[in-house]
Amino acid sequence: MRGGRTMKVLSGRGASDGIVMGKLKIIRRGGSQTSDVRTVMDTEGELCKLDEALADVAAEFDRLYENALARLGEQEAAIFEIHKMMLEDEDFLDEIKKLIGGSRMSAEQAVRRAGEDLAEKFREMDSEYMRARASDILAVSGRIAEVLRGEGRKTVLEEPSIVAADDLTPAETIEFDRDMVLGFVTEGGSEMSHTAILSRMMGIPAVVSVGGLSDEYDGREVMLDGTNGVLYIDPTYEIAKIYRESLKRKHEEEQRLELMRGLRCVNRYGERVYVTANVGEPDDVDEAVANDAEGVGLFRSEFIFMRRSSPPTEEEQYVIYRDAARKLGGAECVVRTLDVGADKRISYLTGNIREANPAMGIRAVRLCLRMPELLLTQFRALYRVSAEYNVSAMIPMICLPSEVEKVREIAREARESLLREGVTVGDMRIGIMIETPSAAILSDILAGMVDFFSIGTNDLIQYTLAADRENPDVAYLADPLPESVRRLISMTCTSARREGIPVCVCGELGAKIEEISFLVELGVTKLSVAPSKILRVREKIHESVAIYQ
Ligand code: PEP
Ligand code: MG
Repeated sequence: MRGGRTMKVLSGRGASDGIVMGKLKIIRRGGSQTSDVRTVMDTEGELCKLDEALADVAAEFDRLYENALARLGEQEAAIFEIHKMMLEDEDFLDEIKKLIGGSRMSAEQAVRRAGEDLAEKFREMDSEYMRARASDILAVSGRIAEVLRGEGRKTVLEEPSIVAADDLTPAETIEFDRDMVLGFVTEGGSEMSHTAILSRMMGIPAVVSVGGLSDEYDGREVMLDGTNGVLYIDPTYEIAKIYRESLKRKHEEEQRLELMRGLRCVNRYGERVYVTANVGEPDDVDEAVANDAEGVGLFRSEFIFMRRSSPPTEEEQYVIYRDAARKLGGAECVVRTLDVGADKRISYLTGNIREANPAMGIRAVRLCLRMPELLLTQFRALYRVSAEYNVSAMIPMICLPSEVEKVREIAREARESLLREGVTVGDMRIGIMIETPSAAILSDILAGMVDFFSIGTNDLIQYTLAADRENPDVAYLADPLPESVRRLISMTCTSARREGIPVCVCGELGAKIEEISFLVELGVTKLSVAPSKILRVREKIHESVAIYQ
């Protein structure tokens, strides 16, 4: 009992280890779902909603401006000023209001339509600069429409807090200031959702799929147990004691794991087994190095495309990848090309795509093959880095050999265009993710076309079991790991071994302690995991290999 209140215990699923105590901050989605309404009667109401959304988005752009200014510099921040000016554009606003008042559209539909029409006009202009503004208009109108739909919330915290929400998109998750978030709690999501993965990469305890989260808990003292998936509201002194004990145990474990620092593992054939880091942002690389990562096995490059309004330029990407590779001091940095789509929406790229099943739609390499300039720019940036550093490219969501051929063609074009310009390039390896059953089944063919495989078990599990990785109600299908997935992993390893290419596991299974021996025995020679898990995974490889010696 605290402050006269009885402790409440809410159960969920542990998504990122650790126990924390602090104040709960509940963040709810505002607005109402209006997207399906074709004709609205309450035009006044829609106009009011529009005004509110415009004010919200203006405040958000101010905040993003400040944030970008502090983290990235004036040039990058300027885009948010331009976006804010667009919010005030009379012609744009008049057009939206006409569509609401005259055509009786919902505010959300009117904003989208006005944005598309205006963008079209810009696309037809002679000046290249003006044509390029079309994507800014779509980004701005897309953001207003999202706010009108209730997507996305303010992510500014005034004090260090445990953040609770119905659900969080990956873009929202990375918006938080890491130093202010003590933990994450969501009503939706599963251990495999990107938000959970991000929490693990950030080393922030998280519990997903929590029931009974009520707004009255906002501001209350809580204890979050990310290991066991429990949220205690107004914890008793006994529970707080558990927290203190867990901190002690954590400290002891950290001391034990220190012995793993600098140690390098081999499998029973004497081949080196690497433990590398999964990162999402340049800052994560420091975390990886601090945890003695033997390289980066998965740089989820899509995260550098978020928190912006247009894709990073070749130069910007070059600097980011180069700095990441440089920090690794010669160890390999595997950059995964853009994996946008499904739950990772980026309005300026996916805003116009309407799909009933986004996880099975225009995602990752499929989007990149529709917009090859995205891939070309990424490859050009990576080839430039490869002249000096150990960097590789990895393609997500491959299903068929024909996709690899098309990607390789774009990579060739990138390399040759640089050489024509007199730019030095390196001999960069190109690998693919095996994360669809099709790729695993065809791995014998694919192995001859690429330099390495990396098994994305998060998606491989979801697509094999037809079980949405975001949906906690179907998570039981993957736990324990079923034979179907084991066979696909095994097939992939056999194909790779025959062709003499290495196999990594970069999905969350690679950090699952009880599965590590299984993976290493199959011949997996690299496990890429959240930085905070590196030493523990290394300890397990070491133990399991010692058994065979
Ligand atoms: C995976 O699918 O296992 C993977 C590593 O990629 P992501 O989680 O980013 O989809
Ligand atoms: Mg994946």
